[in-house]
Amino acid sequence: MFDGLKDKLGQFKDDVEEQAEEPAEGDDEAEADTEAEPAAEAVTESEPDTAEAESAEDGPGLAKKAALAATGKTIITEAELEAPLEQLELELLQGDVEMTVAREITDRIREQLVGETRKQVESGEQVVERAIAEALRDVISVGQFDFEQRIAGADKPVVIVFTGVNGVGKTTSIAKLSQWLETHGYSSVLANGDTYRAGANEQIEEHADVLDKRIITHEQGGDPAAVIYDAVEYAEANDVDVVLGDTAGRLHTSNDLMAQLEKIDRVVDPDMTLFVDEAVAGQDATNRAKEFNDAAEIDGAILTKADADSQGGAAISIAHVTGKPILFLGTGQGYADLEEFDPDEIVSRLLEE
Ligand code: GDP
Repeated sequence: MFDGLKDKLGQFKDDVEEQAEEPAEGDDEAEADTEAEPAAEAVTESEPDTAEAESAEDGPGLAKKAALAATGKTIITEAELEAPLEQLELELLQGDVEMTVAREITDRIREQLVGETRKQVESGEQVVERAIAEALRDVISVGQFDFEQRIAGADKPVVIVFTGVNGVGKTTSIAKLSQWLETHGYSSVLANGDTYRAGANEQIEEHADVLDKRIITHEQGGDPAAVIYDAVEYAEANDVDVVLGDTAGRLHTSNDLMAQLEKIDRVVDPDMTLFVDEAVAGQDATNRAKEFNDAAEIDGAILTKADADSQGGAAISIAHVTGKPILFLGTGQGYADLEEFDPDEIVSRLLEE
């Protein structure tokens, strides 16, 4: 999962290392001469501490510069960072990371490395790795909240409505989430608000049968709000904790979508609207997340098929672009293949050797 992105970040680390290995700019005077930025832009160690110079043992290049930093010399300059950062931005774009997100990541890495705190003398590699980790964490953890806590704290039944286009794994995700809720001690009822698509009832009924969940359906062409309303009534009468309501995903205009979701809003006042899309769709998934969020505000996203996505562009971009977090990753076709999205863990996975 996301191996492509992992490779790109690894390459960036190597590129920075290589840049930093270039000789001749290892002292403060030389740095002051670089045409791009004054010496103040360089990462320098202002508080000499020779005891930390042993980080030089970590190897040449950045590690050596980090050691020099311990004695007041430069780690890396903004000018040295430019080429690797440009390359990283390009690679991120090729990996389907949304443009503003790729720019945000590289800007934050630059900010981190150039403004590096003078006191912490790590190996050069650690300095770069920490800068990447913080930049990634900042963009992917926008709006993050604890889904389980939200469920635990809400009045029951908690009504969750799912939006997103068909074919991306929406129905499967609803089924997976009902299973996830069960393992966390919450009962749920499914509602097929996708009254538009032929066969939608049968599709979700199959999942409900396997999982032994109650499913509320109406005839094809019926009113989605009415189906979800019935499910809420059922949940209230039977002490069911959560209502999981699907909606039609193939509406022609955002006006249709808005009208449908506005009606659901009026009739059942959902606690959460979750957008579902597939990681493998990359930039398209990010664009759709934005469109759906613009048409009817979402609270979070589920990104399916992460197991089949090597790029990671959508996983990196959706939270930053919508301002709403990714809450779960779908990681396979089984009902248990649903992972809570934990930004720290994702970042560690992306940076592990
Ligand atoms: P819907 O039309 O959006 O409701 O899509 P479905 O739920 O029917 O899923 C479409 C296909 O994607 C099915 O074959 C699912 O098994 C598959 N699928 C759903 N989620 C995942 C996932 O996380 N990983 C993988 N590999 N396949 C998935």
